Amino acid sequence: MSEVAVNCTNLTKIYDGETTALYDLNLTVKKGEILAVLGPSGCGKTTSLRLIAGFIRPDNGEIFIDGERVAGKTRFVPPEKRGVGMVFQEHALFPHLTARANVSFGLHKKSPALQVDYLLKLVGLDHLADRYPHELSGGERQRVALARALATKPILVLLDEPFSNLDADRRTRIREEVRAILKTTGSTAIFVTHDQEEAMYMGDRLAVLNNGHLEQIGSPEEIFHNPKSRFVAEFMGNTDFLPGTIVDDGIQTELGVIPQRMDLPIGSEVELALRFDDVDFRLDEKGSSMVLARHFKGSYNIYRLRLPSGRLLHAMKNHTELLRPGSPIRITLDFGHNLACFYAGKAVEVKK
Ligand code: ATP
Repeated sequence: MSEVAVNCTNLTKIYDGETTALYDLNLTVKKGEILAVLGPSGCGKTTSLRLIAGFIRPDNGEIFIDGERVAGKTRFVPPEKRGVGMVFQEHALFPHLTARANVSFGLHKKSPALQVDYLLKLVGLDHLADRYPHELSGGERQRVALARALATKPILVLLDEPFSNLDADRRTRIREEVRAILKTTGSTAIFVTHDQEEAMYMGDRLAVLNNGHLEQIGSPEEIFHNPKSRFVAEFMGNTDFLPGTIVDDGIQTELGVIPQRMDLPIGSEVELALRFDDVDFRLDEKGSSMVLARHFKGSYNIYRLRLPSGRLLHAMKNHTELLRPGSPIRITLDFGHNLACFYAGKAVEVKK
């Protein structure tokens, strides 16, 4: 048996012969893995999911599910024969069927009721099994949809922005539950979202799409700490960019020289990615930077800082450290790790 659940090679989709929604997508999802597909609106997330589900045909490339070619130049397996379960934003439940009947729908009449009871219990809805969709909350309906998607024991579960209709509180709770359920059942899943935090929470790996291109695929930590492009660094959030010039002993910036050596000619113009927690500062009457604003976030504050050039940076500080807007400050550059550095938008490796 193959250890790979899904393999896409050179997957390309052109709508109406003119809009290329996906260019040469290559990706693999291992069995039992949750892959979060992430990117801004219109980048091709739903298109990739619809191709894998079999709702649309690729213009080029192939898709293999559990080792079987399901889409390619000479082959197209319809959605119902691909062994794929789906959960969508609008959770499309049958309104005239109870939660239990929705979960059993599509199962053979002879399937043991136990299986349906087990699934309802797994999603925490056994006590609401006889309710109709309109008698359930958005989060509960979403859990019914997940139980239904899992009922046929699919090889793969596809989830397209499944929580986007829920309010922030419920969304956080249900994503924890859904991840736990997918892991308990050992399911392989592809989860589409445009929310970075949700992707990092849900995904064992993340695939970041931009304009139909796969920008980067990797663990949440890899994507966050080693973005391969300026786009990924910016898209993952909480990032400011500081311009610099390559000099003999590092990178010259308006905050001083960052002792990071790169394989670039002296004089090259680069940009450094600064996360909010990379930047530290302290009150200094002679400091040439200034606190512009403080945003209270509960256990921490985010400070908006102005550099001598007028450029803005953000810094995170513990809620106990309070500094007033207008305070003169000195920004310190002791990052304790290498900063992601970009040349013409692409990451440059730091020389050892
Ligand atoms: P969102 O986050 O807004 O849902 P997405 O990343 O899921 O976006 P897709 O729905 O895959 O993006 O769309 C990718 C591109 O393909 C967009 O430019 C979109 O306008 C275009 N597109 C999608 N579906 C069709 C279609 N049926 N016909 C023509 N163009 C389409």
